[in-house]
Amino acid sequence: MPFPAPSPLAENVPRRLDVLLEELAELGGQRNAIDGRVVEIAAEMERDELCGATGARSVTALVAWKLAASSANAHTITTVARRLKEFPRCAQGMREGRLSLDQVGVIAARGGEGSDEHYAELAAVATVNQLRTAVKLEPRPEPEPEREAEPDLRPSITRTSDDEGSCWRIKLPHHDAAKFDAALDSHRDALFAEWKSDHGDDEDALEIRPPLPTTGEAFMRLVEAGWDVEAARRPHGQHTTVVVHVDVEQRAAALHLGPALTEAERQYLTCDATCEVWFERDGEPIGAGRTTRQINRRLRRALEHRHRTCAVPGCGATRGLHAHHIVHWEDGGPTEMANLVLLCPYHHRLHHRGGITITGPADDLRVADSHGRLLSPGSLARPPTQPPPAVPPCLGPTGERAQWWWYQPFQPQPPPIHAGQA
Ligand SMILES: [Zn+2]
Ligand SMILES: [Zn+2]
Repeated sequence: MPFPAPSPLAENVPRRLDVLLEELAELGGQRNAIDGRVVEIAAEMERDELCGATGARSVTALVAWKLAASSANAHTITTVARRLKEFPRCAQGMREGRLSLDQVGVIAARGGEGSDEHYAELAAVATVNQLRTAVKLEPRPEPEPEREAEPDLRPSITRTSDDEGSCWRIKLPHHDAAKFDAALDSHRDALFAEWKSDHGDDEDALEIRPPLPTTGEAFMRLVEAGWDVEAARRPHGQHTTVVVHVDVEQRAAALHLGPALTEAERQYLTCDATCEVWFERDGEPIGAGRTTRQINRRLRRALEHRHRTCAVPGCGATRGLHAHHIVHWEDGGPTEMANLVLLCPYHHRLHHRGGITITGPADDLRVADSHGRLLSPGSLARPPTQPPPAVPPCLGPTGERAQWWWYQPFQPQPPPIHAGQA
């Protein structure tokens, strides 16, 4: 980037900065006050369990949806909301524009019981990072020794991506690592054998034969082999295969060797053919589900391509989605794009239980909550019609260099002493 030529405006920098910082202080105070009200609203929704009616799976999800907030931000809001009663002074600080959501979020996340006064005072001068340190310095009753002593032995996998590709970091306990090594070896051997039988003895072809297979290619062969097996087993790519018996006359259904199902459960289970359906008449099998109803891999990919998240507004789920028949196939709904939408398991179940209604066609989908109100995607934010909260500007914490040496962490109070002893 070229350096900008020094301009005459440069002389005004201190004054312009003052003006801008002044405005920031004003907006900061208003924002804190607004956030203070937002957490109160979230607390009310949480307390009175108001979010169930909207189809959102939690107040956090509802807040993220309606404010178009990141899930981290929504999480901070509900963290504060859940402890609002415990931290009245901190909450008041927000309402008066003095404390920010992030500051109080740190306090509400880990601050000890009865620490409201302590942290409300500290937050007036401490930055978010300083508050984090202060909260960490609180003595904890027990450091949960067993959890510290025992590392998590489950396999874990993390991924980072850049322009060239993705890098996975796979951590396996020893016995799983041995299994992985052996599987990788066998696939590498197989690749070598294939390579040799194709190109090995052909001396003249030295120039054009492909390079020797790599361990990376062996890994991909391992993945593809596993995937093929999985796809052959359940073409619709779902978790478990459930066998359901459906009586064609009664339309009653029962799980294989299991309990009879309610209407909602039957429709839910048979919707995406996430199960094997046996049609019966008088208890005699007369066939196993129409194949057209099964969502094959190609149709599934097309559905994912059309809309890769759960179709319920406000839900961004992308994993384990079910293909839902808008008109159930039992009622003659075809298994084709216009009659299918992807739903996360939570919303799929909620719909078949009657918690939300979904009407098609798929390209003009209408999702309504349990009160029949249409759910709209996106945030509720709109140009304000009310004046901003009348609070003084917030200059932010002083953030002066913390003297942790002299800092007295919050000390949890011992339980109250009974009368007579005090
Ligand atoms: Zn369904
Ligand atoms: Zn969903």
